[in-house]
Amino acid sequence: MSESGRPLHVAVVGSGPSGFYAAEALLRSNLPFQVDMLERLPVPFGLVRSGVAPDHPKLKEVIRIYDRVARTPGFRFFGNVAVGDAVTVNELRGIYHGLIFACGAQTDRRMGIPGEDLPGSHTATEFVGWFNGHPDFRDRTFDLSREVAVIVGQGNVAADLCRILAKPVDELRTTDITEHALDALATSRVREIHVIGRRGPAQARFTPRELRELGEISDCLTLADSRDLQLNAESETELADPDNINSAKNCEMFRGFAANRETRCGRTLRFHFHLSPAAVLGEERVEGLRLERTRLRGPPFAQTTQPAGESMTLDCGLVFRSIGYRGVPIPGLPFDDRRGTIPHVAGRVNDGSMPLPGVYVTGWIKRGPSGVIGTNRADSVETVESLLADVPRLRAEEKPGGDALEELLTRRGVRAVDYRQWLSIDEAEIRRGRPRGKPREKFTRVRDMLACVDVAEDRQIREQDLRSSIDR
Ligand code: NAP
Repeated sequence: MSESGRPLHVAVVGSGPSGFYAAEALLRSNLPFQVDMLERLPVPFGLVRSGVAPDHPKLKEVIRIYDRVARTPGFRFFGNVAVGDAVTVNELRGIYHGLIFACGAQTDRRMGIPGEDLPGSHTATEFVGWFNGHPDFRDRTFDLSREVAVIVGQGNVAADLCRILAKPVDELRTTDITEHALDALATSRVREIHVIGRRGPAQARFTPRELRELGEISDCLTLADSRDLQLNAESETELADPDNINSAKNCEMFRGFAANRETRCGRTLRFHFHLSPAAVLGEERVEGLRLERTRLRGPPFAQTTQPAGESMTLDCGLVFRSIGYRGVPIPGLPFDDRRGTIPHVAGRVNDGSMPLPGVYVTGWIKRGPSGVIGTNRADSVETVESLLADVPRLRAEEKPGGDALEELLTRRGVRAVDYRQWLSIDEAEIRRGRPRGKPREKFTRVRDMLACVDVAEDRQIREQDLRSSIDR
């Protein structure tokens, strides 16, 4: 094979949107890439599977694009392989010409206030992972016997939490929400949901489509206080900016919520602004939240909060912190602890003191937890362009590629799940969902996912035996 025809082995770590967009960009280039995607769980698609809310099935349609990428010659999936555990970053560097880390932001920011870890105070990650069937959160429990829940933060994840808590459970039954979450939500006594923003309505991070949905939940009254909606001059300037049309639309909707008359409804959803959590209160478990009133200071688009010298207590039995995700460090890679990301220059991992040739990042672990699914495409293209520019240097060293990884995993007794095996899990989940009218009933434990692969493999072996005995 000519020099330029020799395969270039790249491992993509993480199988969410940014990982798949990186794989797509590599496989679309006219170089002979072999792309191996490593995923900690036996199942692919990261946040599209375990982050996107079950009542937003359209957002999950991107899986079709990822499936096409996965079926492209030159692509291999290694599910159930945790980097840092089954194989180290250094070992991967010896196997591959290039590594692209696309492992997202796997934990939450902390509020840093007393009582944050009391029972009844949860992170958005836990709740979202639980209702979406992520194995890490399968056994979390949420005491939904409490009538008042508070959600801290006003972004789209908070909107997802609001809908799951506020929607009549029957509207969720035909989604891919897990059965254990449906059972718990069916007996939920949560009646009041308060959504807390530390800044004003003009700074809420909801996208208008998501906010509009919150005003349309059946048997739920959405409210805001008109006194909270008065804007300072800087916020008015922000709203007048044509690039900030989303915030103007949001403010319009908040005004609509403030005009709603308080009538009897199964649930209420109430937006609060200019309130910053100061302490989660309670002895044994959450009993309330102390909030400090804030005022905004600073120029338009850079307004921060300062205490306004007034505080209040909101009695509640549940607190969900939905204040943004945060990346976690990967042993063997530099980490920017302040931002919760891996430092890079145009996707090339580099913190100034420890440049790592051949190591790249993309997605939330690169830029922080912002943007929608599609934002990751351009991000991954930028990273892959950097890698393509480095190809002459990367090629200088011979690398064995995925066969060597396979051998190493076998030696260590790590059971990797390939894409064909994932498809058998996929098929079984779809089959399990059918009698319940759901698109799928997910397996929520790793052992059940692996058992499902075993069953499918046994069936294939039996079918093969039968076919060969007929042929004979
Ligand atoms: P986000 O959009 O960054 O919102 C975080 C919220 O938490 C903001 O309101 C922020 O207020 C607040 N916050 C941060 N620190 C705080 C603190 N210490 N105390 C009180 N409040 C605090 O994050 P997200 O909701 O986790 O969403 C992450 C990304 O995923 C976003 O880009 C989002 O659009 C995307 N997403 C999209 C969808 C969808 O398309 N349907 C669904 C889910 C998520 P400040 O502004 O004052 O910092």
